[in-house]
Amino acid sequence: MRYVTRFAPSPTGPLHLGHAFSALTAFRRAQERNGKFLLRIEDGDTSRCRPEWEALIYADLRWLGITWPEPVLHITAREDIYASALQRLDEMGLIYPCSCTRRDIQNAMSAPQEGAPLHQDFGPDGIIYPGTCRTRSIESFKPGEAIRLDMAKAVDFLGDVNRLSWQETGPYETGTHHLDAAHLIHGVGDIVLARKEIGTAAYHLSVVLDDAAQGVTEAVRGADLMEATQIHRLLQALLDLPEIAYHHHRLNRDENGKRLAKRADAKAIAKFREEGLSPDEVKALIGL
Ligand code: GLU
Repeated sequence: MRYVTRFAPSPTGPLHLGHAFSALTAFRRAQERNGKFLLRIEDGDTSRCRPEWEALIYADLRWLGITWPEPVLHITAREDIYASALQRLDEMGLIYPCSCTRRDIQNAMSAPQEGAPLHQDFGPDGIIYPGTCRTRSIESFKPGEAIRLDMAKAVDFLGDVNRLSWQETGPYETGTHHLDAAHLIHGVGDIVLARKEIGTAAYHLSVVLDDAAQGVTEAVRGADLMEATQIHRLLQALLDLPEIAYHHHRLNRDENGKRLAKRADAKAIAKFREEGLSPDEVKALIGL
């Protein structure tokens, strides 16, 4: 099977060195395997995405020597696909609407023992949802609410989920990984699949549908998404999507160990460009 990978930035700001590392790693892996490197614009968060940031993404990637086939996939064009996947999950009885705010979730976690220290379990998406809205049906969905996956039901639906596996091809925990039913239920919980409108897919749902639509065989991305992979493998199984491999690369940090992508003042690739650095000098800054 021909190797296909992608780089999937959100046009919410300029690309930084961490993005350059991710895009170049994916591009090189495709080249080395005589495969395909695709670009996907994750412009789902319309309040934060801007056409000028998208234009800058193209300019920065070209400057780094990266090329890709046109047309580029925009996830805003795929709302119907996300909506039909949600409909399918609903027919399977696995999703429910949720009106809880972060504050509601925190309150629900602390309510049982008033005054006791807050006990919270964290999963890949933050606090594990306590299940307040779990008995609601999709018919009661109101615009503005979220849609969650009932994780216990999803695990039950698939039967023996521990048989489901994927390959990690990156430098960490390389090899075969398996889903773990108990961990999915208690350590991940009822993740959000859509926000505000049915069709406005949240990341976990859109990423598996988009990787499948683009024929991706290996997702190359930062190690911060390692824990999310079990969610993606589960959704692939629920939606009959092909299993793909995952290559989680190291994250680029500054001298204090802070992730570049999260630093407000992290320097944009465009700034290095304006200062007259060459693409090779920028690549050297990230060890490439
Ligand atoms: N838009 C996501 C990000 O920039 C992509 C994650 C992925 O590659 O799966 O983090």
